[in-house]
Amino acid sequence: MQAQSSSQIFFANSVLTWFDQFGRKHLPWQQNKTLYGVWLSEVMLQQTQVATVIPYFERFINTFPTITALANAAQDEVLHLWTGLGYYARARNLHKAAQQVRDEFNGEFPTQFEQVLALSGIGRSTAGAILSSVLAQPYPILDGNVKRVLSRYFCVEGWAGEKKVENQLWALSAEVTPRDRTADFNQAMMDIGALVCTRSKPKCDLCPLKQKCGANLTNSWVNFPVKKPKKALPERKSYFLILAKNNKVGLEQRPNSGLWGGLYCFPQFETKDDLLAELHKQGIQRYQEWTIFRHTFSHFHLDIYPIYAELDGKIFDEECSDWKKVEEISAEYQSSVQSAVKYWYDPQNPDQIGLATPVKNLLLAFHKGSKNG
Ligand code: SF4
Repeated sequence: MQAQSSSQIFFANSVLTWFDQFGRKHLPWQQNKTLYGVWLSEVMLQQTQVATVIPYFERFINTFPTITALANAAQDEVLHLWTGLGYYARARNLHKAAQQVRDEFNGEFPTQFEQVLALSGIGRSTAGAILSSVLAQPYPILDGNVKRVLSRYFCVEGWAGEKKVENQLWALSAEVTPRDRTADFNQAMMDIGALVCTRSKPKCDLCPLKQKCGANLTNSWVNFPVKKPKKALPERKSYFLILAKNNKVGLEQRPNSGLWGGLYCFPQFETKDDLLAELHKQGIQRYQEWTIFRHTFSHFHLDIYPIYAELDGKIFDEECSDWKKVEEISAEYQSSVQSAVKYWYDPQNPDQIGLATPVKNLLLAFHKGSKNG
């Protein structure tokens, strides 16, 4: 084992001293730590802030108190509890990994780094965070917060999305991470990134690393981490059919892979003509266009055009005698209910299913409208 240099010792000691005074020690997953709880928290915390994660974590752990309980749950139930946290691949991977743990490790979360890394959705940083936090194994981590602190402290040039730069950051993280108190050190680095060395306006005055931080000494934090080379996000359109019947609304489940995988959405169409053709096929002439809104993903903007129509015979039959009866219109739609791919969702008695955020918001608008109307 290589002896640590004085600058490595300065780094680790400064961070640990700060942790003793200011580090977060009372988060739900830090109490009676288990590999399962820390794993769950680490997955939820990817791309999401602590305050948002806490209620989700508590609901999740209460519903699925063991890894086997999670593994045995229906995917719909898992996605339902995840609704609103975003990045749903995390939930699907978590569920899959729980099944791996149940089937390959008898429901006990593995304790060897390579075994943990082999689980679905767990990368090097998450594996290191779990094993260092619960079992005091001396693995470094490199999540977004740690990347920011190291990029600024060492004035790392280049965008961290490039392999070469990422490798450099991993090497720096390994270099400054002490073998003793690794759990506290890793937690402190995440906390400093989240609370002190924030994305904008870092509080350098309060930072334990200010004395030797390159970005602070040269007043250049704004240049680090180097931003991703800018590329305008492409724009796409989608027409959502909000088809209502007796205060229920038609939803369909998306395929497991791809956008909103496994979640329930309104039927989607690429063009307004396609959507209207579907309405006409069902004998519906009248519809309402709701306000267009934008939902932005990491790789594109989606402009959503909601179109509302009713499959309620009473409304139409009075005005137009040659319209089909509700039963005929909806037979095709309802017959697929059996397959659990399409079905009538009741916002007043909602089922435990996963909903994409824009769908959830539109359902709220629908529910409000149906109560008022
Ligand atoms: S001194 Fe400032 S820029 Fe440097 S690590 Fe601390 S908060 Fe970040």
